[in-house]
Amino acid sequence: MPARKVRKAYAPYPSTLEVVKRTTPGPEIAVTNFFNVLINAGVLTVGLTLRCKECNHSSWHTLNSLAPTVTCPRCLGSVAFPSALPPRREDWAYKVIGPFAAEHFAHGAYCVASTLHFLVEEVVRESTWLPSFRLTNAEGKEVEADFGMFARPNRFSHATSPFLLLGECKSFNVFKAEDFAKARYMAKLFPGAVLCFATFRETLNAGEIKALTRIVLRGRKSLRTGKLLNAVLILTGKELFSQFRWDRQLHEAYGDRAKYAEMVYIRRDIEELCSFSQQVHLGMSSYHEWLDEKHRRRIARMKTPKARPSVSSDG
Ligand SMILES: [Zn+2]
Repeated sequence: MPARKVRKAYAPYPSTLEVVKRTTPGPEIAVTNFFNVLINAGVLTVGLTLRCKECNHSSWHTLNSLAPTVTCPRCLGSVAFPSALPPRREDWAYKVIGPFAAEHFAHGAYCVASTLHFLVEEVVRESTWLPSFRLTNAEGKEVEADFGMFARPNRFSHATSPFLLLGECKSFNVFKAEDFAKARYMAKLFPGAVLCFATFRETLNAGEIKALTRIVLRGRKSLRTGKLLNAVLILTGKELFSQFRWDRQLHEAYGDRAKYAEMVYIRRDIEELCSFSQQVHLGMSSYHEWLDEKHRRRIARMKTPKARPSVSSDG
């Protein structure tokens, strides 16, 4: 009978190193330093994999548990330490530990944490935030937000008063109809709030772009305060991963738009950042281009003489 494949909760040294290398472009020393940081920060821990001669099961053993004989966790038999054939590099393996061991990208927490970090470091001046909370209205309708943030705008921003940001985050899953419905509901509840959609994926699919474009257009109305009804900020892997790179600056991630991005991130005007993110991730025109086009269309309509002038019958 072929052996059933058991899902392993550890990765051998070569594959762990490969992943660390992929996330750390640069010289060998940078890779080693980052690997050390992951160990010292309690993200990864090293152990030894030993194969049991009784049941043929490979199991992972902590450094503290290593002894002349260890217990096989599968058959509870004794596994002798292979003293005559000491472990090779590939016999050492790494496990994520503590909160990092939670499945599904720590139940989405990595994406929320990266998004909050990005907003704090790159967008707002001061903030107070809350991850994962429920909003309940008087009728008992409940919606969950991945995060909420009260932010003080940056010095060079047009906005002068603090604003509310409400976030929906997806690690690698796709935004669904219920996420968009929730965003529309929250937009209605909080005029002036910025809606933030964040994902680790680099690009959005056609369905997401269509739905988000509709939410953006719905929010492109001006409130009496001069703020937009609901500005929409889209963040993807482009922003969320670029913020941690040390070999290039954030704006360089935008290719042709790098110069424009640099200015946007210097000014840190939330509505401009939203508009920029919509151009990059949804392929929309900027808010100002869109507004100009709207005005042009209105003027054109006014100039077009009506075929037959309507005569008012009352009065
Ligand atoms: Zn065994």
